[in-house]
Amino acid sequence: MIDVDADGVVEFTQALVRIPSTNDPGRRERAAAELVAAKMREWGWEPRVYEVAPDRPNVVAVVEGGGGDGPTLMFEGHTDVVTEGDLSTWTVDPFGGEIRDGKLWGRGSADMKSGLAATLYATRALQLAGPFPGRIKVCALADEEGLMLGAHHFVSEGLAAGVDGAIVAEPEAGEICAVAKGALRLRVDLTGKMAHGAMPQHGRNPIQAVGPLLVGLRSLQEELQRRHPAHEHLGEVYVTPTVLQAGSEPQVNVIPAVASVFVDVRTIPGAEHKEIADRVAALASCDGIAAEVSVLVDRPPVDVPVSEPVVAALAAAHRAVTGEEPVYGGVPGSTDGTVLTHWGGIPSVVYGPGGKWIAHQADEYVEVAEIVRCTRVFAEAARRFLNGDH
Ligand SMILES: [Zn+2]
Repeated sequence: MIDVDADGVVEFTQALVRIPSTNDPGRRERAAAELVAAKMREWGWEPRVYEVAPDRPNVVAVVEGGGGDGPTLMFEGHTDVVTEGDLSTWTVDPFGGEIRDGKLWGRGSADMKSGLAATLYATRALQLAGPFPGRIKVCALADEEGLMLGAHHFVSEGLAAGVDGAIVAEPEAGEICAVAKGALRLRVDLTGKMAHGAMPQHGRNPIQAVGPLLVGLRSLQEELQRRHPAHEHLGEVYVTPTVLQAGSEPQVNVIPAVASVFVDVRTIPGAEHKEIADRVAALASCDGIAAEVSVLVDRPPVDVPVSEPVVAALAAAHRAVTGEEPVYGGVPGSTDGTVLTHWGGIPSVVYGPGGKWIAHQADEYVEVAEIVRCTRVFAEAARRFLNGDH
């Protein structure tokens, strides 16, 4: 078993949690990214810092094994966290990094500063254990919780080229998640003709086109659920209207010109986003109202086979370190792994310390023992993947 610095990884997680790198204007990721880069330099690594947007750097270090030719493994974490929200819902300081009852508390403790710390300390442990084939690319990216600007920038800079597999350290409660749900967000603008409420015959009311559209979205969901039976790890396809905008209260005597419906579509492998967007556009065009569908977010589902070397190495490492059979699961949302797999061509798998449902909640925490255990699994997974032993 590779020897990891158990105290070091926990202390580094605390230090990261104490930096409020929320995905908000005014806070941002810079200080957290600088702490990561400083730790890398302390170990003699040579991180490169890429300015994705102002105060939003990506940090990437390539650690050569010095043990001859071999594959390239990528470890990925993100430095941003979601906002702490209403402080009165917390019983601990969200940026205190306090350890109590065997748990490390705070915003980002699970999602995913502990996972990010584990990737660094696992790589360091493997490096200290002696030469290994190939190399590890350790990446701390910005804006996972937003538009995933960091992951997109990483790919567009050409940094995904030559990477053979990626482990994304999101909190998945010890499950090995090689599949992830897709997300498609649509905005439907229905344009009619504005008129006085007393003379509706002179207008075309887009609000009345919303009703049939909502009914149609429900039928489309039922049809998609029939055509794509529930996935064992990802569940059903959902087509959910989430926002309605039309008219305004002081204008109760006016037929508005435009009504907008926003739709959050969650897909499983096999469901085609282009087809779904076209179907929504067809549903929206009725009653002489012009409809325009804009795609706001398009993140396809991820479906990496468990036989893929990076998944197999991780599963073997999980078994070796924990003594337990690996449990396979799915990611309910999308992660940077979605971007890396679809646009970067890197087979990715998501696995990391922390519970699946604790992310983004008040009193977020991670079990301290889980951070250390995950660091050991990462080190062992890297060893196996780079040596072709899985
Ligand atoms: Zn995350």
